[in-house]
Amino acid sequence: MHWLTLEVLTTIGAWAFAVASSPSPGCDFHNGLCPRDNDWEALGAKLSDTAKIYYPGSSGFKNITTRWSVLEEPKVNLVVVPGTEDDVAETVKFANKMQLPFLAYNGVHGAITSLGKMDHGVGISMSQLSGVKVNADGKTATIAGGTMSKLVTDELWAAGKQTVTGACECVSLLGPALGGGHGWLQGHHGLVADQFVSMKVVLANGTLTTVDASSDLWWAMKGAGHNFGIVTSLTTKVYDIEHTDWAIETITFSGDKVEAVYQAANDHIIKNGTQPVDVVNWSYWMNNADADPNNPVIVMYIIQEGVKAVDSIYTKPFHDLGPISVSPDSGTYKDLAAWTGITNSSPPCLKIGMANPRFPIYLESYNVAAQKKVWDIYAPAVRGSSPFNNSIFMFEGYSAEGVHAVPHDSTAFAFRSENLLVAPLINYFPAKGLDKKAADLGQRLRNVLFEASGRDEIGAYVNYAQGDESTEQMYGSEKWRRQRLSALKKKYDPLGRFSFYAPILGA
Ligand SMILES: Cc1cc2nc3c(=O)[nH]c(=O)nc-3n(C[C@H](O)[C@H](O)[C@H](O)COP(=O)(O)OP(=O)(O)OC[C@H]3O[C@@H](n4cnc5c(N)ncnc54)[C@H](O)[C@@H]3O)c2cc1C
Repeated sequence: MHWLTLEVLTTIGAWAFAVASSPSPGCDFHNGLCPRDNDWEALGAKLSDTAKIYYPGSSGFKNITTRWSVLEEPKVNLVVVPGTEDDVAETVKFANKMQLPFLAYNGVHGAITSLGKMDHGVGISMSQLSGVKVNADGKTATIAGGTMSKLVTDELWAAGKQTVTGACECVSLLGPALGGGHGWLQGHHGLVADQFVSMKVVLANGTLTTVDASSDLWWAMKGAGHNFGIVTSLTTKVYDIEHTDWAIETITFSGDKVEAVYQAANDHIIKNGTQPVDVVNWSYWMNNADADPNNPVIVMYIIQEGVKAVDSIYTKPFHDLGPISVSPDSGTYKDLAAWTGITNSSPPCLKIGMANPRFPIYLESYNVAAQKKVWDIYAPAVRGSSPFNNSIFMFEGYSAEGVHAVPHDSTAFAFRSENLLVAPLINYFPAKGLDKKAADLGQRLRNVLFEASGRDEIGAYVNYAQGDESTEQMYGSEKWRRQRLSALKKKYDPLGRFSFYAPILGA
C-alpha cells in the first residue's frame, strides 16, 4: 500500500509507539488481540493505492469520526478509508483475524445508542466509495456504497432522472435505505429499499458477493440490512423526471391551535390513508422567536408536486384556522431540502457536539386529543432557557401510496400500512443528568401517542430509533418476521459482527 499523506505516515509511528508503550483501554492486550505494527503493514499491503488509514490524533481521524449525535458514540482505534470495494472485504477479513470489532462509517448521522457498545475496533469509512452512474438501460443506476443522498439527487437530476432517496441532504443513500428509507418520492415508487435491483455486499466473513432477488438475504437487506453486511455498491431503479415544478406553503401556528391543525391534517390531507401521491405534509414543533418569543410554534409544511402554487384545496382549511404566518414558495424538487431546513448547512444536519436522541413511532392518523396532550408536555419542556430548547418534534406525512402498494411480507420493513412517521428529537449539549431527563421526556411523549393509537406494540422506524426499543418494535412483532430474521442472522452473521447498529437480538 502507498501511504497517501505525511499525516498518515507520521501517525502510524505514533500508533505503533502507543501500542508498544501505553495500551489503550479499548484494546484487549491481555488476550493478545491487539494488532502489532507489522499486522497493520500486512493490511496495508493488501489495500489499494488509494486506501487510507487514519489514527487517533490526526485531523483526518477527527473529521471522519465526528458524528451528528454525541450520545453513546462508537469508539474506534483507527479508521480505514477503502479506495475500492475489495478494500472493504480485506479490512473486514483483517478485523476478523485480529478479533477486532468493525463498523461502517458513512454519513455518520446514525444515532442509535446501541452504537455506544462499540468501545474499540476498526471504523470503515465509505467516503471514497462515492459516485453515481446511470446505466445504459436508462432505468437503473449504479451507486457506490458511500454516496450521499444529495449527490444521488444532483447527478440523477443532471441526467433527467430521479429516484427515492432520504429527504435530507446530509445522510448517505444506504444508511437510510437499509432500514427502508423514507423520502419525497415514496408516494410514487415506495421506499428507498423498494428501488433496489442488486447490490454488492461484504458479508460478516469478509466475502464480497452480489445479492439480488435470487438470494434469501434480499428480503432482509430491505429493512434490516445494517445487520447483514457492508454494501459497497448498489444498482437501483431510476425514473424519468415527470414534474420539474414543486411548491410549498409554510404555515406557522401558535400552540393553542394544535387540535384544529391536526384535525385539518386528518380531514384534508391524510384522509384515512388516501393522501394524494403528489402531496407531502410535514410539521415541526420548534422554538422560533420571530413567530413567538415565549413558546414553541407549529410549523406546517404543505408541499405539492407538479404545480407552481399549492392547491388551495389543501391550504385553505389551514388558512381558515388563523395562522401566525403563511409563506408560499415555488421551485423544483431540488429546493425541497432548503424549504424544510434539511440541507447540508441547515441546523438539523450540523455536527456541533449535541446529543440528539429521537423517539419514533409510526401512526395511521393523528389522534387529536393526544396531539394536544403531547403539546402540553412538550412546550413547557423545551421553551425559554430549557437545555432542550433546540428540540424539534417531527411529524412526517409523506404520501404513502407507493409504500402501501408493496406487499407487506415482501421485505423486512414491517410498517407499510402506516401513514405518519412521528418522533420528538430532543437536542441538547451534554451535561450531567440530561441524558436521563431527555430519555424520560422522549419516552413520555411517545407513550402518550402510543396509548392513544390503540396498538399492541410501538412501531419504531429503525433509523430514528433511540436504542431503548426492542427488536420487535424496530423490525415488527409478527412471529414469522422474528423467525425469518433470526434464521438469516444465524446463517449470515453467526458471530454478530454487525450488531452495533440496531441489532437483531435473540438470533
Ligand atoms: C438530519 C437527519 C435527516 C434524516 N433524514 C432522513 C430521511 O429523509 N429519510 C430517512 O429514511 N432517514 C433519515 N434520517 C435517518 C437516517 O436514516 C439515519 O440517521 C441513518 O443512520 C443515516 O445513515 P448515515 O450513513 O448518514 O449514517 P452512519 O452513521 O454512517 O450510518 C448508520 C449505520 O448504517 C450502516 N451503514 C451505513 N452505510 C452502510 C453501507 N454502505 N453498508 C452497510 N451498512 C451501512 C452502519 O451500520 C452505520 O452504523 C435522517 C437523520 C438525520 C440525522
